[in-house]
Amino acid sequence: MKAVTFDGTNVAVSDVDLAEPRHGEVRVQVSAAGVCHSDLHVIRGEWAVPLPLVMGHEGSGIVDAVGEGVTTLSVGDHVVLSWVPNCGKCRYCLLGRPAQCELVASVVAPNGVLYDGTSRLSKDGKPIHHYLGVSSFAEMVVVPESGAIKVRSDAPLDVIALVGCAVATGVGAVRNTAHFVPGSTAAVIGCGGVGLSVIQGARLEKASAILAVDVAADKLELAQKLGATHTLLVTPGMNVPEAMKAIIPEGLDYVFDAIGKIMTTEQSIQALGLGGSAVVVGLPPTGQSAQFDPLVLAEADQRILGCNYGSTVPQRDIPRLVDELMSGDLDLESMISARRPLDEAESALADLNSGAALRQLLLP
Ligand SMILES: [Zn+2]
Ligand SMILES: [Zn+2]
Repeated sequence: MKAVTFDGTNVAVSDVDLAEPRHGEVRVQVSAAGVCHSDLHVIRGEWAVPLPLVMGHEGSGIVDAVGEGVTTLSVGDHVVLSWVPNCGKCRYCLLGRPAQCELVASVVAPNGVLYDGTSRLSKDGKPIHHYLGVSSFAEMVVVPESGAIKVRSDAPLDVIALVGCAVATGVGAVRNTAHFVPGSTAAVIGCGGVGLSVIQGARLEKASAILAVDVAADKLELAQKLGATHTLLVTPGMNVPEAMKAIIPEGLDYVFDAIGKIMTTEQSIQALGLGGSAVVVGLPPTGQSAQFDPLVLAEADQRILGCNYGSTVPQRDIPRLVDELMSGDLDLESMISARRPLDEAESALADLNSGAALRQLLLP
C-alpha cells in the first residue's frame, strides 16, 4: 500500500507492506487522516520516536478485516481511529483513565509497535514503526481493536477523522480534564485545531465568556464563529496575561494553553483569576521547564492541570462527539482548511508549520 514514511530526514510517499491483523486487531481502510502538530514534533526531531515510521495519528475509515478474537467490530463498520488503544485491563484503564493506559505508555507509543511488541508495517522485509499505534497517513492501518472506535454510519467519513485527535483532545480538555463548571469564564491561547475544539467545548459547556487568543486575525475570526465571545490579537511586545485580564475583568476561571510553548504555558497560569485552573493541552518538545509563583498559586487557590488526549475515554467520548457533530452542536467543517491527496503530505506539513493551514485532511 501507499503510505507516508519518515526516516529521521525525509518525509516520503512509499510503497510499504502491511501484514494481516493478528489476534485482537483490525484492518481499516483509511478514509481521511488529519494533519496535527504532533506530526510536526516528529519531523522537527522534538520528540524521541522510533524510526523509520509511517506518520499520522488522526484518522477515520471502514473496517475491512478483523483478526481472531475481535468482538466489538465487524467488517463494514465505520470507525474513528484513537491514538490511545487502551488495554482495558491495567490499573489506569480500570480507574477510568485510559489516556494513561500502561500498555500504551510502556509498549505501543514508545516502541512504535502494537500490543505484542511487533509491527505490521515493513518495507523490503525491514520493519517500519507505527506512530502512536495508528500510522494513518496510509491507505490502510492495522490497529488494536480498541484503537478503532465504532461510530454511526451516517456521519461524514472524512470529517470525523478530526474527532480522533483534535476534537477529542479539545472538548475533552474542557469536559474531562477541567470538569468545566457552567457559567464560568474561559480563555484559549492558540486557535488551531485543538484550540478551536476547546472553544467549541466551552460553548457546549455553557461558558459565560470565551476569550480566544492568537497571533493570526483569521484564526480569531473563525474562533468567533465557533463560539468565542471575545478575542485578543497578540502583537509583539504585548503583555498577554494583563491584556487577557483586562478583557475579562471578572477573572478567568479556566485558561487553556492549546499551544504548549513554555511562554504560553506561563501566560496561561499568569492570566488566571482567583480559583482558576490552567490546563496544559498543547504539547511542548521533550525536556523543557516552565515557571510559576507558588505563593500566588496557593493564595489564589489556583490549579495547573495537565491534559493528555483530553483525558478522553475513547469508547465513551468519540461516539458522543460524532453525535454532536450530526446534531449540529459541533462545527468541524469550518475547522478544515484543505482536503489533499496523500501525495501532498509533505506540503501539508509545511503549511501547518508556517501557520498557513488549519486542519488539513489527507485523503488516501
Ligand atoms: Zn494530534
Ligand atoms: Zn490499559
